[in-house]
Amino acid sequence: MSGVSIDLTAPNGRKYTQPIGLFINNEFVASKSGEKLASINPADEAEIASVYAAGADDVDLAVEAAQKAFKHPSWKQLPGTDRGALLYKLADLVEKHAETLATIETWDNGKPYSVSLNDDVAGVLDTLRYYAGWADKIHGQTIETTPTKFAYTLRQPIGVVGQIIPWNFPLLMAAWKLGPALACGNTVVMKPAEQTPLSILYLANLIKEAGFPPGVVNILNGHGRVAGAAIVQHPDISKVAFTGSTMTGREIMKMAAGTLKNITLETGGKSPMLIFADADIDQAAKWAHEGIMYNQGQVCCATSRILVHDSVYDEFVRLFKEVVASTSKVGDPFADDTFQGPQVTKAQYERVLSYIESGKSEGATLVTGGEPHKNAAGGKGFYIAPTIFADVKDNMRIYREEVFGPFVVVSSFTEEDEAITRANDTTYGLGAAVFTRDIERAHRVAQEIEAGMVWINSSNDSDFRVPFGGFKQSGIGRELGEAGLEAYSQTKAIHVNLGNRR
Ligand code: NAD
Repeated sequence: MSGVSIDLTAPNGRKYTQPIGLFINNEFVASKSGEKLASINPADEAEIASVYAAGADDVDLAVEAAQKAFKHPSWKQLPGTDRGALLYKLADLVEKHAETLATIETWDNGKPYSVSLNDDVAGVLDTLRYYAGWADKIHGQTIETTPTKFAYTLRQPIGVVGQIIPWNFPLLMAAWKLGPALACGNTVVMKPAEQTPLSILYLANLIKEAGFPPGVVNILNGHGRVAGAAIVQHPDISKVAFTGSTMTGREIMKMAAGTLKNITLETGGKSPMLIFADADIDQAAKWAHEGIMYNQGQVCCATSRILVHDSVYDEFVRLFKEVVASTSKVGDPFADDTFQGPQVTKAQYERVLSYIESGKSEGATLVTGGEPHKNAAGGKGFYIAPTIFADVKDNMRIYREEVFGPFVVVSSFTEEDEAITRANDTTYGLGAAVFTRDIERAHRVAQEIEAGMVWINSSNDSDFRVPFGGFKQSGIGRELGEAGLEAYSQTKAIHVNLGNRR
């Protein structure tokens, strides 16, 4: 025990030391103001721990550390291969501590432990190793211009990057941002979401142990409007990468304009799933469930708006209800058979309940759910019964707005053109799923959909090798895959004159 860490025992009996400080220059420190924020277990509403919350003066310190690190030979002159080796080392440490990291994630966020371990932490490993491999393969081009001149390009890091991440996949979102940023040679000031501050502080320990020089990665918990805004407006931060709500994305864009920062945004969605008459309806029902109920529905690209051909509509709704009833076991996130844990916070729980009320008052047909789920923990916890509304009209709030919970709307269509037009009738454009056995239709529709990702006969696949991001108001730029490197490097053109004449 010290002032910046506490010993904890998680609900599954795992004992560990939880850092609670700000992570600056490879050390945990208290915030200047001494202010803290409390992290709540969404399964029983009890406080887990309080961690230090950064103010603008703490952000200044972290940026100074990151700037020094960016210019220091221990990082600046480190060959890409060695940066990759550090990322591989970090991945090995994450693997070694996987069960503790998964435990913290489940305790703090409410997601089932098997998901934390097999999806989130496993995804962190994949992402870190993938970008470790890229670290010495980021290079420019040689371009011949005239007989006596040529140019070459260098891919250089951007500088100090601010990374603001959400609470739905805390560790995974950290890895999606840290992997490419570090592979490209940047230094980082990261702000996790105030709802889930714990797992990333444990990861900070591993970053230090892996051998990253002090100041290369700094992690500041804190409130969005305080620490987040200070990061976005800081003149010595050259780039901001953000994942979260579209509304906050807009604010970030405005604030970043003050210093003309390079930005990437990954924001919200109301992703459609189109089910045609010739689809395998059993498969469609299975993926409809996975596409919206996974992670308590707290997934930016969740297929939350299902459009079904009217000839198979009744059959689909019946099968979907059956899959939800048989698969969506709601309960203790540490129990082996739990599919759905609590929503992350009371605010999110109340938000989903308010949309349930909206669906009822707007006259949609409630197929299942539509109320808090009474779990066994004495009525405590932010549990929602998985909810399906059918016969939903395009002008209803529940059809148009992102709910971010185990909540889905179903509507019918008759013509392919109509389905595409209605799928695209949204300000969002993150993902879309198409279910059909007709290969021509599948690719025709995929091309017409205005979204950054389309799943054919599937939903919500994401892979560290494949670009992830949105069209329209779902984002700017891409994460993951080779495309993810674009966000963290800038091209310098160097013109060379080999001749002695103009
Ligand atoms: P949010 O966008 O407010 O928070 C995301 C991150 O941004 C957090 O780290 C937060 O501290 C930070 N932030 C907030 N205001 C900021 C500001 N003014 N300047 C800088 N940083 C700021 O999201 P939320 O309020 O936690 O959730 C609200 C809704 O956002 C959800 O219901 C959901 O619809 C959506 N959401 C989307 C994603 C996603 O993956 N796209 C993730 C979480 C939430």
